[in-house]
Amino acid sequence: MTFDDDFTLTIAGRAIATEAKVAVINPATEAVFAHAPAADAALLDKAVEAAQDAFPAWRDTPVAERRRVLLLLADAIETSAIDLGVLFTREQGRPTPLATREIKAGAAWLRAVAGQEVPVDTVEDSESRRVEVHHVPLGVVAAIVPWNFPFLLTIWKIAPALLTGNTVVLKPSPYTPLCALKLGEMARNILPPGVFNVLSGDDALGPLMSSHAGFAKISFTGSTATGKRVMAAAANDLKRITLELGGNDAAIVLADADPDEVAEAMFAGAFFNTAQVCIATKRLYIHEDIYEAVRDRLHALANKAVVGDGSGEGVTHGPLQNLAQYRRVKALIEEAEASGLTLLRGSAVPEGPGYFLPLTLVDNPPEDSAVVREEAFGPVLPLLRFSDVEEVITRANDSEYGLAGSVWSRSVERALDVAQRLNAGSVWINQNRQVAAHVPFSGFKQSGFGVENGREGLLEFTQTKAIYVPK
Ligand code: NAD
Repeated sequence: MTFDDDFTLTIAGRAIATEAKVAVINPATEAVFAHAPAADAALLDKAVEAAQDAFPAWRDTPVAERRRVLLLLADAIETSAIDLGVLFTREQGRPTPLATREIKAGAAWLRAVAGQEVPVDTVEDSESRRVEVHHVPLGVVAAIVPWNFPFLLTIWKIAPALLTGNTVVLKPSPYTPLCALKLGEMARNILPPGVFNVLSGDDALGPLMSSHAGFAKISFTGSTATGKRVMAAAANDLKRITLELGGNDAAIVLADADPDEVAEAMFAGAFFNTAQVCIATKRLYIHEDIYEAVRDRLHALANKAVVGDGSGEGVTHGPLQNLAQYRRVKALIEEAEASGLTLLRGSAVPEGPGYFLPLTLVDNPPEDSAVVREEAFGPVLPLLRFSDVEEVITRANDSEYGLAGSVWSRSVERALDVAQRLNAGSVWINQNRQVAAHVPFSGFKQSGFGVENGREGLLEFTQTKAIYVPK
């Protein structure tokens, strides 16, 4: 597959071009390098109609056949992983080897979901009757995806939606539409027409989708602020929703943890993808006994980072993905500095164009500073000293978010005790950023609504239906 400016929507299995376009910017150069089609309300109607038309036949297609075609799609993704990885870097900024890894992870995830069973449970089998619980598809699903993991999060949504018999209209972020458009293009030859439609567009398209009466469900990943708007719009006709939203994840490093191991793992956990990860560590609580040791090792790692254009050799961290995000994080860092906090900056970033910021640690800021309270979603990590475990659990839980967290200790038992008391949907011990297709992923409080992945996530794309069978 070759890549040029020829990006098209996929509606009813066909390529659709538009007059209106969305410019796609390479965040490492700030140059427009491609144009994506901009779907309007009329094209959205067409895509929803195509998905509605395709729904009855797809719903009635045996799961085994749906599984078979999803596996074919996974093969096609794998085959194009190198080309897609290059395109991913240009639109998203991440270094190409890591971008390619996300594409391959998408293929693997699709295979893993395709292998899942859509359960039929018998909840009663008595003398008089059998009661079966079926999980039937909902109809047309809107899949709305952010720019930080544009490919994998797409698969998180479309794989379970399609396996369970729904049809889909996918909308990538206006900042990163290209890999999703290419996925639609690949799927044209694999999935029946209308089963999977892909629309790119400007900022107007998301709100049009969340209020469109043709969708039975919205599966949304993005910011908490937008999630609330989606929820309000969905209330109108009681659309089903799954919202995966922001986080301000705490990691707690107990006194007996190994500073070297913690720093190494934590550096990746906090700064992977230039810290634009919903489940990145965003508040790092370190016991006072090892605070300096962990801080200094983290600073040394930040000094070794190679921040630059993700298409370059040896680059470990790319730019911020877009100008708004760059400005937001830069302002947060400047505010921290202006208020007298101690910043420990990592290696220098390229001069000239590109949304680059150095990986930055903040040395023990007050708990109420913006850099601690806000979801930075960029490379600025507050390190926070603590002495009392009870107190630090309270501090960690004192957030409107509750997406994930981690606990670090030589004693897994001690860590488990703390893990059980963290209010977060995923908690890791002596590791971070673990997710798997068979493990439910969800957010406490304002980090989300509903579940993705695992049996629970699969079933969120279905309606529960009890059938009473007399004997
Ligand atoms: P965003 O909320 O600005 O946009 C997300 C998507 O929603 C985009 O495709 C956007 O075009 C669309 N959108 C905008 N307004 C809409 C509306 N009214 N109705 C429907 N769709 C609309 O988020 P972002 O800046 O792209 O992503 C960053 C945020 O995503 C961070 O807060 C991050 O924590 C969160 N995130 C969460 C998870 C998770 O699984 N919990 C994963 C990745 C990112």
